[in-house]
Amino acid sequence: QRNKEPKPDWLRIRLTTDGNYAEIKDMMRSKTLHTVCEEARCPNIYECWANRTATFMILGDICTRACRFCAVKTGLPTELDLQEPERVAEAAVQMGLRHCVVTSVARDDLADGGASIFAATVRAIRERLPLCSIEVLIPDFQGNWDALQVVMDARPDILNHNIETVERLSDKVRAKAKYDRSLELLRRAKGMAPSIPTKSSMMLGVGEEREEILRSMDDLRAVDVNILTLGQYLQPSPAHLAVERYVHPDEFKSLKEEGIARGFSHVESGPMVRSSYHAHEQVQSAAKA
Ligand code: SF4
Ligand code: SF4
Repeated sequence: QRNKEPKPDWLRIRLTTDGNYAEIKDMMRSKTLHTVCEEARCPNIYECWANRTATFMILGDICTRACRFCAVKTGLPTELDLQEPERVAEAAVQMGLRHCVVTSVARDDLADGGASIFAATVRAIRERLPLCSIEVLIPDFQGNWDALQVVMDARPDILNHNIETVERLSDKVRAKAKYDRSLELLRRAKGMAPSIPTKSSMMLGVGEEREEILRSMDDLRAVDVNILTLGQYLQPSPAHLAVERYVHPDEFKSLKEEGIARGFSHVESGPMVRSSYHAHEQVQSAAKA
């Protein structure tokens, strides 16, 4: 699928690297851990790792779903790795993380969708790094709210679940996920633990209209979501969903203002923004709110 426009200058960045980065990469290999930072070739990796933020992908690197924007492999996942939470915690210690994001592929093959491993990972990190804030970016567990409760009981510092796009495009962009179910998850998470900030993200440039973005913001605020991130969708390969439009940085800025006016405690909005970008600051502003 061909992108509708050439890549604008504001998305061309020069990557710089240092010794620390290579060292961390080797450590990830030796522990057979996966980070979204590396696997999604996130443009913020040097900045985030230097700022002691990283996003671990647990429960394997094969997903039971096949969203059209996502580069993760689809297939039947391998068996559960019960030692993974401990290894993630060890890696978090070695990296000296201040903010750790834990996410996973969608494990629709598991009865609890992997919720118990999420909970074990939160507890393992907290035990070893009590000052590190922990964010979980969870799948929808196919609407299994008992599984959600297991995650909330581990008391993450932020509960994140992405709606990814506006309602009209949800079925096209996100295989097997449902817009309403995602809102319901965020509503229930807040009901289960009102003091834990909730967060959601959207990627722009897949064909949405401004009015639709604003409506989604209203939908998220209606279920009391506290933190919003908006970033530019980039096509991981020509086989993936095409980019319809590159959203100008000024438009991201104006959307941030719309978000703040609607009562989000923190909005990150910009071409390179990813769900976990500047996440440490998000925890702080949510705590102040
Ligand atoms: Fe990793 Fe997220 Fe930072 Fe990207 S924005 S490098 S995925 S922590
Ligand atoms: Fe990618 Fe998540 Fe969709 Fe799986 S559920 S294909 S990991 S976005």
